Amino acid sequence: MAQKFHNTLSDRLEVFEPAEPGKVRIYVCGPTVYDYAHLGHIRAYVVYDVMVRHLRQSGLLVQYVRNITDIDDKIIKRASELGESPLALAARFTAAFQEDLQRVLCVAPDLEPKVTEHLPEIIALIERLCAKGAAYAADGDVYFDVQAFPDYGKLSHRKVADLEFGASGRLGDGEDQKKRHPADFALWKASKPGEPSWQSPWGPGRPGWHIECSAMCMRHLGESFDLHGGGLDLVFPHHENEIAQSEAATGKPLARLWVHNGFIEVNKEKMSKSLGNFFTARECFRRVEPEAVRYFVLTTHYRAPLSLDWTVGEKGEVTGFPQIEECERRLDYLYSTKQRIASIAPGRIDPSAPVEPELRELPARLSAALDDDLNMPVALAVTADLLKRANDLADLASRKQGKVSQGALTAVRAAFTALGTELGLGLDDPQAFLARVRSRRALALGLSEAEIEALIVERFEARKNRSFARADEIRAQLLRTGVELMDGAEGTTWRLL
Ligand SMILES: [Zn+2]
Repeated sequence: MAQKFHNTLSDRLEVFEPAEPGKVRIYVCGPTVYDYAHLGHIRAYVVYDVMVRHLRQSGLLVQYVRNITDIDDKIIKRASELGESPLALAARFTAAFQEDLQRVLCVAPDLEPKVTEHLPEIIALIERLCAKGAAYAADGDVYFDVQAFPDYGKLSHRKVADLEFGASGRLGDGEDQKKRHPADFALWKASKPGEPSWQSPWGPGRPGWHIECSAMCMRHLGESFDLHGGGLDLVFPHHENEIAQSEAATGKPLARLWVHNGFIEVNKEKMSKSLGNFFTARECFRRVEPEAVRYFVLTTHYRAPLSLDWTVGEKGEVTGFPQIEECERRLDYLYSTKQRIASIAPGRIDPSAPVEPELRELPARLSAALDDDLNMPVALAVTADLLKRANDLADLASRKQGKVSQGALTAVRAAFTALGTELGLGLDDPQAFLARVRSRRALALGLSEAEIEALIVERFEARKNRSFARADEIRAQLLRTGVELMDGAEGTTWRLL
């Protein structure tokens, strides 16, 4: 099936075909590293991670470039507040960002270019724009002239005339007085004393925010590439400006497909550092498995808003994230199921029994869901189907004389592998995952693992002595405290509901 993505440029669902057959070149705007990543960042990068994984799984060779903005006003401001050098601060938060993304199982991009390592490319691009009459120098700054680029506004579907008092208000003080049009934007900014600066034909300064992405994506992926992604807030002005700068310089379309992910919302507002309504990924990882945050991202279509709830204690402190905790329970179920399948004894396997065709179709259904504009909720529905069918097999194997088809087991294992490669789910060692989750959650419920294990042993003895009433009583007692027992051929395991 052909891959389809919603293209912001045409505002339509389009069949995606890379320019060079078999190869896909992708650029995604990375973070400005002046603080820890919040859940909104995690959402964006998990979405592109699923996209990259899926394109690779479809047999395409993907070159994935995601930049790091390591110099910018916010970095300079934060560094001066903390009495740290801007570059040291950026390096510290770059490492933290990479670590957080690793914890939500994102594959590292093939290249992670930094602005401070691309000054020659940035300056050369600005010079090229000046030479073409698409940019002008003004008192140490350089601005892009939006009126010199007739296509300006094609991504965000706006017209330059409507931007008269839109983008940056009326022509007023400071930088605005140097501009020919209010929508013109800085390509180069003269530096203030004490700020990091680089030499340029316009004097010492540093790049404006937008130009860096044009310079870095064209340097690493060529003047035209396949797919450009980022958050919905980047459509205007960041990506509009990227298109203007790049296409005014080269005369070629920068990217053919522009993909944008929705926000995490808090009370119907975008989660953002500047609004102060954010939770860092690290805050969240203290309460739930990072993989549960990944799962949470998958529960909603990438273009739709994802609204986050949390619970608050008596003193107003955050006590939990119910939706993400629910995702952790689903992962617990996934890993428990994987473990049940792995422990089916060889004597319970029938090599000649037939396989239901539906089992073999699971990986293809997963792929088809992602082909359809990366429909992750449908992919999770396929996952739920897989788990149900896998548990049916494990139940069958645990019955007296029960035997499962070798072909069915092979199909289920292939589907679990597809979950890992396509969605990045279930990649951990089941035992390690379950042990971590159980001990943390048992602690939160005021139960100890030893008590649960002791009751399981007591129930086992009761059953052996044919005291089934006592055995059932123990099961019910545990269930009331939120512990479900699962019997298998290999013994009894438990999970927290
Ligand atoms: Zn960018």
